[in-house]
Amino acid sequence: MTTRLILFDIDGTLIRTGGAGVRAFARVAERLYGIRDGTRGIRFHGRTDGSIVQEFLQAHGLPDSDAERRHFLDAYVFLLDDELHRQPGELCPGIAGLMGTLPEISQPPVLGLLTGNIRLGAGLKLAAHGLAASFVLGAFGDDHLDRNALARIALERGSRHLGRPLSGEEVVVVGDTRADVECARAIGARCLAVATGGETLQELLEHSPAEAAESLEGWGWDRLMNAGRPAPRAVDWEDLYQARDTRWDHGEAAPALQDFLSAWPGEWPRQGTVVVPGCGRGHDARAWALAGFDVLGLDLAPTAVAEARSMTTGAPAHLRFLQGDFLKDPPVAPVDWLFEHTLFCAISPEHRDAYVRSAAGWVRPGGHLLAVHYLQPADAGGPPYGVTVDEVLRRFGADFELVRHGSSRSFASRAGRERLFLWRRRIS
Ligand SMILES: [Mg+2]
Repeated sequence: MTTRLILFDIDGTLIRTGGAGVRAFARVAERLYGIRDGTRGIRFHGRTDGSIVQEFLQAHGLPDSDAERRHFLDAYVFLLDDELHRQPGELCPGIAGLMGTLPEISQPPVLGLLTGNIRLGAGLKLAAHGLAASFVLGAFGDDHLDRNALARIALERGSRHLGRPLSGEEVVVVGDTRADVECARAIGARCLAVATGGETLQELLEHSPAEAAESLEGWGWDRLMNAGRPAPRAVDWEDLYQARDTRWDHGEAAPALQDFLSAWPGEWPRQGTVVVPGCGRGHDARAWALAGFDVLGLDLAPTAVAEARSMTTGAPAHLRFLQGDFLKDPPVAPVDWLFEHTLFCAISPEHRDAYVRSAAGWVRPGGHLLAVHYLQPADAGGPPYGVTVDEVLRRFGADFELVRHGSSRSFASRAGRERLFLWRRRIS
């Protein structure tokens, strides 16, 4: 089930205010009740503002009522605002990158807040970091004293927003404390616990979150939406080759590559080194070798490599095939060209960052990546997994400069679904 709602905790997950809230609480205790150090000994992490006030009032023998807590929190909001102006704190690692890329994803999840902060306090903290407009709904400390109840309220509001009942499986809760892990569990959601706030990774893991990470540094939305899900069943390419179930193999080089090589663009020398990852039985690699290039074909499946070698009798000597894992193995040597045909679409989205890293590692600065991608807007759980032009441009654009892209000739069964992308590896 696709993740439709992601609920973020605030303190220690999105931002670190450096104790602005704790200082504001202490100032209220002193201002309203003349109690210095009134919050000493009170635990703040992962709790609702109301429950913190309740503990303070009870610890000092003060009358505890809804009205009294409201009175406290009204004063708190003003002092919090003051504290945040003096010292706004910082975004947690990875948050800026994550928020910046939300508009680029094709089916963005709804972003909500699940926080013990009262609504006004949450708004002030987020506004101090330009995040106030990023969240369309939330459950807050003034909705309930109990965080698990807040999770149920957030789920209800998410359902109302989407116009249908959401199940917990469609929800990811991101938080930095055991309280976040527990409230996610209370609604059957997956919790991604991040050690950027109250607790260490080790402490968080003791509470069995669906997934845990040191921080969100380097995380993209695909990975976040799939947090805590088992990796999709890996395709056993070797089994498929042994069973000769290789429907993708048309017995010849990709038509787009045949055209590219026969109308070789004059601006580059018609020589150099080429790697073809996911080369299968080697049709594309042989086409490059016959055109005069020094070629290495790589494939995960030993049977594919063996068949590629046996089909290569009579082909030029400067063609080799190796069994290897393009996502994991380091490059043998930087190459002038990397060619791939319908490999990227066979890589599940959570491994695509690794794919782009590998491609950038193989191609020398100024060298070229020539890719024929199979486009499929909807992701049916692959392979082939969903690929869109936008995604290709976004993922490869950082390391490669686009030379051109456009439709290309395909096997009949894929007509109109393939697109050729020519990239130049950026120099730095
Ligand atoms: Mg927190």
